[in-house]
Amino acid sequence: MGEMTMTMQVKYSEKTGKPLVQRFKLATIERAITDAGYTGFCVVCHGEADGVEPDAHGYKCEECGHMTVFGAEEIILRGWVR
Ligand SMILES: [Zn+2]
Repeated sequence: MGEMTMTMQVKYSEKTGKPLVQRFKLATIERAITDAGYTGFCVVCHGEADGVEPDAHGYKCEECGHMTVFGAEEIILRGWVR
């Protein structure tokens, strides 16, 4: 509870100019899934968001402003963990 997450610098594709997904540590996502509340993550800056359904995708990130907040289970399904 109340744990601050260190966000990352957003990286952009040189080809498309779109923000690039940066993979998460599996333990980070697993912790969010076992938490009582719904926690989602921005996949380009790793900002955390509360009240995000496990299968959510494309919510707006309050940290970087991109529409790149995904639910924890969705992140695992898409293989964005290492
Ligand atoms: Zn973000």
